[in-house]
Amino acid sequence: MTNLDRSVAGVTCREVLFELSDYLDNALSEQRIAQLRAHLDGCTTCLRFGNDVAETLHALRVSAAQPVSIPPRTASALRARLTLERTAHNRARDPT
Ligand SMILES: [Zn+2]
Repeated sequence: MTNLDRSVAGVTCREVLFELSDYLDNALSEQRIAQLRAHLDGCTTCLRFGNDVAETLHALRVSAAQPVSIPPRTASALRARLTLERTAHNRARDPT
């Protein structure tokens, strides 16, 4: 079992888990990044978990960057619906 209150380099595993996402996004101060890095250097549990999360995040971002393919029938139904909505919206806003 993992003890999340274990402190390595003055930072607990709980803090690392809490800030992991910001750490991976480089959204923390340089000082905080250095503190978390020092913890990761001495804590294989967080290091392993962090690498798993980083890989998952990377895979998600790569797949999210792929264009989504919509079946042609769905695309034309969507387009027709949007045109209908736009017409109704314009008519409501500017009745002539
Ligand atoms: Zn840890």
